[in-house]
Amino acid sequence: MKRILITGAAGFLGSHLCDRFIKEGFHVIAMDNLITGDLKNIEHLFKLENFEYYHHDVTKFVHVPGKLDYILHFASPASPIDYLKIPIQTLKVGALGTHNLLGLAKEKNARILIASTSEIYGDPLVHPQTEEYYGNVNTIGPRGVYDEAKRFQESITMAYHRFHGLETRIVRIFNTYGPRMRLNDGRVIPAFMGQALRGEDLTVFGDGSQTRSFCYVDDEIEGIYRLLMSDYELPVNIGNPHEITIRDFAEEIIKLTGTTQKVIYKDLPQDDPMQRQPDISKAKEILGWEPKVGREEGMRKTFEYFKTLSQEELERTEHRDFTQRNKK
Ligand code: UDP
Repeated sequence: MKRILITGAAGFLGSHLCDRFIKEGFHVIAMDNLITGDLKNIEHLFKLENFEYYHHDVTKFVHVPGKLDYILHFASPASPIDYLKIPIQTLKVGALGTHNLLGLAKEKNARILIASTSEIYGDPLVHPQTEEYYGNVNTIGPRGVYDEAKRFQESITMAYHRFHGLETRIVRIFNTYGPRMRLNDGRVIPAFMGQALRGEDLTVFGDGSQTRSFCYVDDEIEGIYRLLMSDYELPVNIGNPHEITIRDFAEEIIKLTGTTQKVIYKDLPQDDPMQRQPDISKAKEILGWEPKVGREEGMRKTFEYFKTLSQEELERTEHRDFTQRNKK
């Protein structure tokens, strides 16, 4: 039986990866320190014999007994609200955490895939973003802690590949959504859906002309799986190229949820990228991958998930406006 270590396993993407690799017949070793993850995302797996969970912070030395065939490094805060709250941990998990996991991969002779991000392109001056674009990142801005950690992560991963001959894979993940997103992570989809469910107005930041391209989680996981199993060692964009402005997106959510509330406008957070859309030619050509789930279907499934959350949870996760803190 193949053994895989998944860090950030109790998070949104990490937990879906656990499900996928269990389904593929792997022995899954899940690791998380639960700073942003939640055990409820993986508790259904605890009864399985081929699943184990370690509560561990990967910025500290990582020890896993026995053989390891694969490592997926998905531990990291991944939303602007988190970078503001825990900037040092964000830097450490991308830098020190990645170093520890590369060391573990070398020791175990395992193939490692690291989760990079469209954020390495910063506020992009090239549109859509191809893997060849070097990016436009503000090193000292509020997002810098995430963006630069992820850029360093790519560099050290390629260094281990070139210097130690390690088998490495780098996925650049674009905005992904679906069940198990954290309702209070500040991201636009849980924010709008939470607001609709609580009967609040939908907060669009700036004039809403900025764009994003949202990928349904099942498509994202399929792309990551194919990349891990491929023999391609350079970064690959995995995301949905179907682009929309945030203003139009708010209108879509109003229709979908049937809320009688309206859109209100708030300040645009500092360094909020104005446009984002993946060029996925590489993923198509190398992995034979492209997204299958349209926004309407994906958003419906996601809203179904948020509707199952209790009223108590909805109130606890009342939307927080972090645009003011961003200005400091
Ligand atoms: N956004 C918004 N209202 C919210 C939360 C986010 O208008 O309540 C905007 C945000 O400014 C950004 C876009 O939605 O332009 C996507 O934000 P998110 O945090 O989901 O992802 P990222 O900016 O990292 O792509």
